[in-house]
Amino acid sequence: MTTDTASWSELPFLSGRLLHYGGAFQEARSTAAIPVVSPASGAQFGAVPLAGADDVAAAMDAASAAAPAWGALDALDRGRHLRALAEIVRSRIGELATFESAITGRPIREMRAQMGRIPEWLDYFGGIAAGLEGESNRLRGGFLSYTAYEPHGVCALLTPWNHPILILVKKLAAALAAGNTVVVKPSELAPATPLLLAEWCREAGIPAGVVNVVTGDGSTGSLVCNAPAVRHIDLTGGTATGRKVAAAAAARLVPCTLELGGKTPVVIFEDSDVEEAAAGAVFAAFVAAGQTCVSASRFIVAQAIYEPFLEAFVRRVQALRQGDPADVATDIGPVISAASRDRCLAYIATAKAEGARLVAGGGVPSLPAPFSGGNYVEPTVFADVAPSMTLFREEVFGPIAAVTPFSGEAEALAIANDTPYALGASIWTRDVARAHRMAGKVRAGMIWVNDHHKNDPRSIWGGFGDSGYGTENGWDALRSYQRKRNVLVSTAERFDDWFAGGKRYG
Ligand code: NAD
Repeated sequence: MTTDTASWSELPFLSGRLLHYGGAFQEARSTAAIPVVSPASGAQFGAVPLAGADDVAAAMDAASAAAPAWGALDALDRGRHLRALAEIVRSRIGELATFESAITGRPIREMRAQMGRIPEWLDYFGGIAAGLEGESNRLRGGFLSYTAYEPHGVCALLTPWNHPILILVKKLAAALAAGNTVVVKPSELAPATPLLLAEWCREAGIPAGVVNVVTGDGSTGSLVCNAPAVRHIDLTGGTATGRKVAAAAAARLVPCTLELGGKTPVVIFEDSDVEEAAAGAVFAAFVAAGQTCVSASRFIVAQAIYEPFLEAFVRRVQALRQGDPADVATDIGPVISAASRDRCLAYIATAKAEGARLVAGGGVPSLPAPFSGGNYVEPTVFADVAPSMTLFREEVFGPIAAVTPFSGEAEALAIANDTPYALGASIWTRDVARAHRMAGKVRAGMIWVNDHHKNDPRSIWGGFGDSGYGTENGWDALRSYQRKRNVLVSTAERFDDWFAGGKRYG
């Protein structure tokens, strides 16, 4: 397949008929399809199959058949394959960014930057795979004990729409480096680029059946989770989906990693530079139109700088340029779907009704055709949001920020921790002792100080509470994709027979 230009018309796999498994595009057995639609205009790019039981079974067969040889490959060789894929991605970043932007509605500037970082995950996990060394001990009585890692086998990767390639590659790189084969079920709202990546895996020389992609909705995801071949499940998605996937995994006693929702607090202390904090706030709340799991949705701001911060924040929000995602001048695109736009507008109406003070946005921007057909919501800020209000409590997943004042560190912490989620948090202060004090007490799996949303293959990513469990990135992710086993060898000259008066017991 030629993918030198970023034109949807050149992507025949969007015919609504093709899945990618066993190292090739495959005609779907299911005749149902899901439209692939532009969030920016409503135009339809094409369609992908809604894979059914027969399709999932065929993909599982391909993944199972490939698992023994891939798992037995030396880790250095698996790393070489991942780096070959990194090279292909590196040479096509512009193309990938164009597709990713079109499919998600995220501005091209954002997607070029994000796609530019994708090879880091492939290089990193390709590199550390060979470092998975076990430990050994000599035990009393003449025994040698050593540990060894082995892959789970076939892993299910269930991914969301907000970062279709980034989140897939975070999981894929760790899973493959660890020696697993995978069946990927991308989001029904952004299924196109994962199919393209599967084709690039083939081009990179990754053996057939190692990477398999079946498109579909939650019903397909459920079939994937319940497939007997699956030995590990890794989901990034909403908390409600996480509960269902955890139940499916528990029923089969299959381990899983759950990267779920959040309600990320940003605590801004009075010693912060107000303009710098406001610039950080705009990035934290409105990059990806507020559709990231760690989007800053609760700004908790010291009373002493509350009004100056609000003024600077609102001024910067009102300067954001909203429009065509393909335009490099666009700062903020649409949300993913009409349903998501309607949900955002409902949260805005509820926030007003509950008494929050609207200080920016609050409506649908007026844009020319074709963007008048898109799912746009103005970047919106509410001040004086009380912790009891719906906007403070629920994950919106859109461009709506809540600002709440605090007096004193204890109150800041109490407000920040007043949520069942525990994913990301950021703390803005130049007081080093306070920064570490807060970092030690704020409930979150990832904490940034004087920054937000920094993500790196060497820095673990994951939450707890209603945000799930398990981690992406780093050695922890690689190890979660393997079983660790122990081998104990007697080095004595003969067996110490207990029933013949031997001394060893246990
Ligand atoms: P979603 O839960 O609707 O879907 C996620 C994936 O799960 C999709 O592929 C979907 O088809 C599949 N799925 C749905 N029901 C299923 C079932 N019963 N069994 C198996 N699979 C099923 O999430 P979304 O709307 O695509 O993504 C947004 C959510 O993801 C937000 O809540 C966001 O916070 C979260 N998220 C979390 C992280 C993180 O790192 N913690 C990152 C990005 C997004």
